[in-house]
Amino acid sequence: MTDAATEARALLRGLTDAEPFGGWSAPGRVNLIGEHTDYNDGFVLPFAIDHRTHVALGIRQDAVIRVTSTFAADAVEVPIAELPSLFPSEGRVPEWAAYPLGVAWALVAASVVDPSELSGLDLAIASDVPIGAGLSSSAAIEGATATALNDAWQLGLDRVALARIGRTAENDAVGAPTGIMDQMAAMLGRADAGIFLDCRSLEATVVDLGFAAAGLEVLVIDTGVKHSHATGGYRDRRESCELGARLMGVMALRDVSVEDLPRAAEIMDDVTFRRVRHIVTENQRVLDTVHTLRTEGAGAIGELLLASHASMRDDFEISVPELDTAVDSAMTAGAVGARMTGGGFGGAAIALVDHDRVATTMDAVAAAFEASRFSAPTMFTVTPSEGARRDA
Ligand code: ADP
Ligand code: MG
Repeated sequence: MTDAATEARALLRGLTDAEPFGGWSAPGRVNLIGEHTDYNDGFVLPFAIDHRTHVALGIRQDAVIRVTSTFAADAVEVPIAELPSLFPSEGRVPEWAAYPLGVAWALVAASVVDPSELSGLDLAIASDVPIGAGLSSSAAIEGATATALNDAWQLGLDRVALARIGRTAENDAVGAPTGIMDQMAAMLGRADAGIFLDCRSLEATVVDLGFAAAGLEVLVIDTGVKHSHATGGYRDRRESCELGARLMGVMALRDVSVEDLPRAAEIMDDVTFRRVRHIVTENQRVLDTVHTLRTEGAGAIGELLLASHASMRDDFEISVPELDTAVDSAMTAGAVGARMTGGGFGGAAIALVDHDRVATTMDAVAAAFEASRFSAPTMFTVTPSEGARRDA
């Protein structure tokens, strides 16, 4: 059992005398390519990582749901009868608890089950997904909670339905206007594979990544610069995309192709145009990456990763100096490709690096951060891994 799984069990034991009914977990994710395309009905290619959030669950005798996390000081409890009206909560629960309780709320709202028939539960949560680093600890906690509750309450929902539940929790309970990519990756991930997702149809295709076979590792460079989805830039970028789609007369920027860009340049202001150009070219880069992986293998996707980073830096303007330094220094050290990953404004970059060069790349990145007087980044490799599952 991993440390976080043990921690979750221990936390549950400290809360209740009952033996855990079971343990579930869901992973964080790295988005290989396809940034901010999800809420534009576009394409993304994330993979689930070998860092997971664990939920240990105990059945209660009363009709109360109680959540606790190693991340927070106090347990939060809510009578199940009050779940349907819990959100929007106006601060009735601490923000972190809006993730697991938001999942419970969304499940009750979406299911045919009468809340009065649901058993009370204790949920203890522990995680080794870095929080707020762009690796989607939020989808990990949602995915682990959703799978645990689906099993404990015998709701019988499938994985895509559970991903939607996670998204509803994040959008409507937490209030972060994110797309569905993270939840789909956390639910559907497979070892050695990425999830090529059409965010309009939600059709998901497992794509072999073959990193290990190509002798490549994915190095995560967490800049430590904190981002927040609930505020500012993310919302602003979404509004620009909606405006761009409206001006182009389409439902979503997914419906704009690279050939349409000259027309887009004529009819919109420069900032909106550059936001649009990022989305349109990024969608194409995802398709090209899937094609390149299938035809030439992982060693050939470096240029696409770099072009994605440049587009986010110059057109979408969601990078920060620390992320640019991470990408540039990793490339100078000989990485195959690199880009910032996640929503931007901080968080992490990824670099695709030859197995033998991981240590020298880490040294080079650390030295570049020091030279720029940035706080030291946290670096570790990640392996494409399994999605949400019951562990115990
Ligand atoms: P990211 O998803 O990139 O890690 P977010 O801001 O989307 O960053 O989500 C992080 C938030 O999710 C945390 O601030 C916390 O509220 C909640 N969260 C994530 N993991 C846990 C956990 N193990 N326990 C409690 N809350 C968590
Ligand atoms: Mg998140």
